[in-house]
Amino acid sequence: MSRILLDGEDQITNPYRKNVHEALDIVKKWYQTDTIIAHSDGEVVMIQTGVPNEPGSTGNRSYGNFVKIKHQDGYYTLYAHLQSVYVHKGEKVTKGQKLGYMGNSGNAYGVHLHFEIRNSYDRRIDPTPYLNKDLPKKEKSLYYQTYDNVKKRWLPNVVVGNGDYAGNFGNAIGGVYADSYRLRVHDKRKGIWLPWVQNRNDYAGNLGNDIDGIQIENATYRAHLRNGSWLPWVTNYNDTSSGYAGIYGQSIDAIEIK
Ligand SMILES: [Zn+2]
Repeated sequence: MSRILLDGEDQITNPYRKNVHEALDIVKKWYQTDTIIAHSDGEVVMIQTGVPNEPGSTGNRSYGNFVKIKHQDGYYTLYAHLQSVYVHKGEKVTKGQKLGYMGNSGNAYGVHLHFEIRNSYDRRIDPTPYLNKDLPKKEKSLYYQTYDNVKKRWLPNVVVGNGDYAGNFGNAIGGVYADSYRLRVHDKRKGIWLPWVQNRNDYAGNLGNDIDGIQIENATYRAHLRNGSWLPWVTNYNDTSSGYAGIYGQSIDAIEIK
């Protein structure tokens, strides 16, 4: 059975493709219509009604008649091209509640449901894994920070993936703390990799000794040279020169994890 169709099984007629079609197009097996029901509990935050079939229309109009629901942890689901809408804006809905009937309103070339899941930033994510499962839990922010060997103190926390970096250009770093990542650093003075550490119970580094290499498990990361620029992003870790961020013998003054 389906979590978003009242009495049919999902048949995906157009899959999710990043930047191309960030949604799933669905009918009831086999090529039938059905009543659309709420994926999860939530509140209707937007609806549109009164739009006819308008192939080629753009913007919100292209969705035709639609319902957008906000769920716990800030995720949204959106149900488009409806023939009719049974709920109103501001209404609290429960999982399985009828929202409307499948149609071809807006920019649709046939009757189907265009189904989107968006994250708390209102960005579309791939709905496929959640089509018949609970929505993901809100992503927890992860933080990391570095120790400035010149100022002799830990620098402020930086959030993973927000485009910021940890470090002060020109001042070598001697230690790295990171939430939830297993990592190790290469001590430039000793010329060795220091032990792997994980989470905030421990940091990687010998404070005061410059770092000239770093490896982080399950992350994409890069290092900035004190006497240079950003090195390429690294996504793996191994014994080759592309398996860590850094160049032996050259101090690192910043790192970035994305
Ligand atoms: Zn679609």
